[in-house]
Amino acid sequence: MSLPLLPDRDCGGCVECCRYIPLDLPELAKPTGQLCHYCVDGSGCSVHAIRPQTCRVWFCLWRAVELSDDWRPDRSGVIVRPDGVQEGIITLYVMRPSEFLATEDFFATVAHWIAEGIQIALSVPGPEGTYPVRAVVTNYLRPSIEDGDMEAFVGHLFAALDSLAASDFQPDGVTARYAVA
Ligand code: SF4
Ligand code: SF4
Repeated sequence: MSLPLLPDRDCGGCVECCRYIPLDLPELAKPTGQLCHYCVDGSGCSVHAIRPQTCRVWFCLWRAVELSDDWRPDRSGVIVRPDGVQEGIITLYVMRPSEFLATEDFFATVAHWIAEGIQIALSVPGPEGTYPVRAVVTNYLRPSIEDGDMEAFVGHLFAALDSLAASDFQPDGVTARYAVA
């Protein structure tokens, strides 16, 4: 799925999808969490003109919806995944717990989504080469949001992330292959 992108926004130095999103294509396979060998960390794709079609159409939601600059994934530690949005679910793929998760910006945005009837899922990566884990947490977060209690919200959020991080992560079975030419 590819949403229309915001015209005045680009990835800048973010390369987080090239690190955290697995690929298993004939010309390019990389396990979850492995920075693509074609990626220059902090800069971008070194094979941009001939990158696979999957790379051309995959963008996180920060590129497509009005979120603040602080939401840029390399700053926030969160990739807002595009899959599931059309079914009314937003998945926050938390690559690393960051101070951003305890900001008013994050709280207000998640509260707005839930008020709009959107389901919220949290996802966290495991060791390189394993599937991330994911859980829908809307009803877990809702009471603190409805109370306007940001401190309780942050507590619940980090408790959910800790619980996910303790999961039994399963191998993604992807063997690295770099053959873009
Ligand atoms: S995670 Fe989003 S902002 Fe970062 S490189 Fe990928 S599409 Fe661009
Ligand atoms: S080929 Fe380029 S765009 Fe695709 S994952 Fe690798 S660095 Fe990222």
